[in-house]
Amino acid sequence: VTDVPAALLASLRAAVGSPHVLTDPELTEGFSTDWTGRFHGRAGAVVRPGTTDEVEAVVRACAEAAVAIVPQGGNTGLVGGGVPLHGEVVLSLTRLANLDPVDVAATQVTAGAGVTLAELQRHADRCDLTFGVDLAPRDSCTIGGMVATNAGGTNVVRYGPMRAQVMGVEAVLGDGSVVSHLHGLPKDNTGYDLAGLLTGSEGTLGIVTAARLRLVPRPAHRVTAALGFAAIPDAVAAVGVLRSMVTSLHAAELVLKDGVMLVASVLGLEPPPALLAPAALILEAASPTDPTEEMAAAVARLSTVGDPVVATTPDQRRRLWAVREGHGEAINRLGPPVKLDVSVPLGRVAEFVAGLSACLPPGAGLVIFGHLGDGNLHVNVTGVLTHEPNAEEVARAEAVEASILEAVVGVGGSISAEHGIGTAKVRYLHLCRTPAEIAAFRNIKQALDPAGILNPHALLPALA
Ligand SMILES: Cc1cc2nc3c(=O)[nH]c(=O)nc-3n(C[C@H](O)[C@H](O)[C@H](O)COP(=O)(O)OP(=O)(O)OC[C@H]3O[C@@H](n4cnc5c(N)ncnc54)[C@H](O)[C@@H]3O)c2cc1C
Repeated sequence: VTDVPAALLASLRAAVGSPHVLTDPELTEGFSTDWTGRFHGRAGAVVRPGTTDEVEAVVRACAEAAVAIVPQGGNTGLVGGGVPLHGEVVLSLTRLANLDPVDVAATQVTAGAGVTLAELQRHADRCDLTFGVDLAPRDSCTIGGMVATNAGGTNVVRYGPMRAQVMGVEAVLGDGSVVSHLHGLPKDNTGYDLAGLLTGSEGTLGIVTAARLRLVPRPAHRVTAALGFAAIPDAVAAVGVLRSMVTSLHAAELVLKDGVMLVASVLGLEPPPALLAPAALILEAASPTDPTEEMAAAVARLSTVGDPVVATTPDQRRRLWAVREGHGEAINRLGPPVKLDVSVPLGRVAEFVAGLSACLPPGAGLVIFGHLGDGNLHVNVTGVLTHEPNAEEVARAEAVEASILEAVVGVGGSISAEHGIGTAKVRYLHLCRTPAEIAAFRNIKQALDPAGILNPHALLPALA
C-alpha cells in the first residue's frame, strides 16, 4: 500500500526501471527507520536511481506531482533527516557509486554520492593519499550524506569538516535543473559558492549526485595515546598544550569514566586504566615523520593521572579506538537514547557538563563523549525513551532535550555541532539563528526548491 499516486509511480518506474522502485513494506522498512531506532516513518516508495539523469527525471516527476522527497545515503544520520516521517518518497543515492581515478597532481578525486567513506579511503590509500574526514560508520555513510550534513568526525582538529574538503559539487535542484561544478580549481572566483551552500543543506536545497574532494597526504607514521585526567578542566588545558606543541595533532577525543565502563561491560572490552580516569583523552598524531617524540614532549608537560598509554602498532591502536567508537553502539543497547550533538566554547566545557545533571529527570542516565579538540560533545540521555514510547515518555524526552539545548546556548554554544538540524532540532533552530537568518534561509530554499518538495520537514520550521 502506498500513498504515491499511480501516475507518479509509473513515471518513477519509467525513469529508473521497475526493479529500482520499491513499494513493498517489507522492502521499504529498512529505509524508514533511522540507526538509533528513534525516528520511524513509512516510505511512500523508495526510488533508487543509478545516474544523475535518472535523479533529474525523478525530481522533475515528483515536482510535477507535488510529492515530497527525502534523500537518503547510508541512513546513518542521527537527527531524523533522512527517513520518511510523513510518507515521502525516499530517494536512495547508494547506486551512484562511481569513483573516478585519483588526480594525483591535484590531490583530488571525484566521487559519486553513493560512494561510502570506507571505499573512498581505500581508493585514496592506493595513491598514498587519504581523506581528511573520518567517522565511525565509514562502511555505510556516503559521500552525498556527508556533504549534505557537513560531517565532521575525529580529524576536524587537523583538516576541518566536509566543507573544507569539498572543491565542487554536482546536484539536482528542486526544479530538476542540474548544477555541476566539478573541475576542482583551487582558485575560481566566479560567483556564488553553490558547493558551500549545498554542503550542510541536509537535502533541502538539492540532491547531491557527485562531489569533487580534496585528498591529503597519507601520514606514514602515527602515534595514538590515552591519557587520564582527574577532571575535565585538566583535559581541556591539555588540548591547548597539545595543539601548540604537536603540529600533527590529528584527533583529541574525550571519554568519561561512566561511558568507558558502559562500553567495557556491554561490548566486552578491557580498557587500559588511563581510560578509566574521571576524564580521559584519546589522542592521535600522524605525520610523514614519526610524531612520537613530539607527542611525548607535550605529554610530559600535562597533569595526567596514572600512566599514559602509547599505542604504536595497528592492533594497540585499534583497541584504544574501539573504546571511543564503541560508545554509540553501547549506548544504543540501553534503548533509544535522547542524543544531542552540541558544541561549546572550550573554556566552558566543564561548566556545561557540571550543569547537565540539573536537566535530567529522576532515573535517567547520562553518557558524554566527543571531539574535545572542537569543543564538540555528544550528550546521550538514557532511560527516558523505550522503543515504542508512549506520549508521556515523548514529552519527557522533549523536556530533557529543550533543557539541555537551552543550557548549551546559555554557555555560548551551538545546538548542532556536526549532525545537523534534521527533523529532530527544527523547533530549536531559533535558539542559534536570528529571525533575519531564518528568513534568508527561506529565501534561498524558495529559490532552489520552488515547489518545496526537497526534505520539506527538515531544517526549516514550517511557516506559522
Ligand atoms: C555510530 C555513528 C557515529 C557517527 N559519528 C559521526 C561523527 O563523528 N561526525 C559526524 O559528523 N557524524 C557522525 N555520525 C552521523 C552520520 O554518520 C553522518 O551524518 C553522515 O554524514 C551521514 O551520511 P549518510 O550517507 O548515512 O546520510 P543519511 O543518514 O542517509 O542522510 C543524512 C542527511 O543527508 C541527506 N542526504 C543524504 N544523501 C544526500 C544526497 N546525496 N543529497 C542530498 N541530501 C542527502 C538526508 O536527507 C539527511 O538529511 C555518526 C553516525 C553514527 C551512526
